[in-house]
Amino acid sequence: MTTIDKPEKLPSVDRLLNDPNGALLVREFGASLVTRTVQTVLAEARKQVLAGTAIEYNWLLKTLSEETAHTVRPSLRPVINLTGTVLHTNLGRAALPESAIKAMVDVARGASNLEFDLETGKRGDRHEHAEDLLCYLTGAEAALIVNNNAAAVLLTLNSLAKRKEVPVSRGELIEIGGAFRMPDIMAQAGCKLVEVGTTNRTHDTDFELAIGPKTALLMKVHASNFEIKGFTKNVSEQALAEIAHRHDLPLITDLGSGTLIDLESHHLPHETTVAEAVRAGADLVTFSGDKLLGGPQAGIIAGRRDLITKLKRNPMTRAMRPDKLTLAALQAVLRLYTDPSQLATELPTLRWLSRDQADIARLADRMASTVQDHCKGFEVVAAPVQSQIGSGALPNDTLASAALKITVPGYRRPGRALIKLAKAFRDLPIPVIGRITDDALWFDLRCLEDESSFIESLKGLDVT
Ligand SMILES: *Cc1c(COP(=O)(O)O)cnc(C)c1O
Repeated sequence: MTTIDKPEKLPSVDRLLNDPNGALLVREFGASLVTRTVQTVLAEARKQVLAGTAIEYNWLLKTLSEETAHTVRPSLRPVINLTGTVLHTNLGRAALPESAIKAMVDVARGASNLEFDLETGKRGDRHEHAEDLLCYLTGAEAALIVNNNAAAVLLTLNSLAKRKEVPVSRGELIEIGGAFRMPDIMAQAGCKLVEVGTTNRTHDTDFELAIGPKTALLMKVHASNFEIKGFTKNVSEQALAEIAHRHDLPLITDLGSGTLIDLESHHLPHETTVAEAVRAGADLVTFSGDKLLGGPQAGIIAGRRDLITKLKRNPMTRAMRPDKLTLAALQAVLRLYTDPSQLATELPTLRWLSRDQADIARLADRMASTVQDHCKGFEVVAAPVQSQIGSGALPNDTLASAALKITVPGYRRPGRALIKLAKAFRDLPIPVIGRITDDALWFDLRCLEDESSFIESLKGLDVT
């Protein structure tokens, strides 16, 4: 054991690099990265020694190895989402089904016919890959895929309503997370927003009065993350479509989450499907790929062919076009929708949303004592909880679920201990993310399927 208590006793950069441990790191991570790390570790050690803290030679080696590993570790990593919010935007929203993962890997590995027509040998259109399936599943004539639904709304408004007016009900001028505010999007798209009605009530006549020579289209926005209750009135999709078409204007519906199936058949609350919006008379419907649809991040625009053609001609489309991985995954996910009987098994989002409470409760009961063994000083019990769908879908409908509820017995204000425990779970090789509320740390088990590897990973839990 070599104690270093003076700067001149610090080893040279070369000495550390040639130490057997250092050499091992060089072989694994390359000389330049390790050399740079040695320099930073030595600089840090020098500061400590000068401040009067002696250090050990072995501490230098250990720090070097940790720092090197830390530098190369990807910052974007998988985590286990036990927050109780199934479609958690900060945790990457929908998990992809295996078939979509395989499809992505297949096209990632080499060349693909992304924009190449195998029939004619000529240039093809990337947007056509998922279009037929989308039309089949929604009843729309045509469809276009962009990077996300915010892009879909921006592109639609910019293509059809630039320098023109767009009346929208005041009750639908929403903000969703991540700075997506309808009025700002309108401004960026170059349209003039015309506010119609009041916050809680908008009538057909309000729209009639708002339509003028500069009106480009009517727009309906799905109020995704809130609900106005009480003395309310809004204009139904059908009525709005009727008004729009009487004035020879298209109706655009931003559905937000846009589901392709009747969620009630999976014992979930009803959510307007894309096909319903199309049937109600929407000329274009925009929705996300990674919300209820359960696919990759994408924005989908489905509707009238002539309008989709206009959108495709907008140079902005080029800046928003999806990549081959997205298209491969989306196509595979849409393919699952052609066989609804298998959907709840194959599609993780639907499988988790429709998971039976009793099944989750049994899992919580089974796991409570094992997790307790790893959390000395805390109390772990199985407890009922309500999951959320997330991503703004069905904000007021929660799903009965079960959780591990971890409390600190004997403390009146357990906040600090719980925050530390939550951090210990986040420090696991695959971080586990829960939620602290009501003086407890909650792990909602709705999205946990691999029980054994979760239990196995708890061996690394450091609650000291
Ligand atoms: C989520 C949402 C959006 C934005 O969709 P992204 O795919 O996240 O870009 C737009 N409008 C509504 C109504 C939404 O719910």
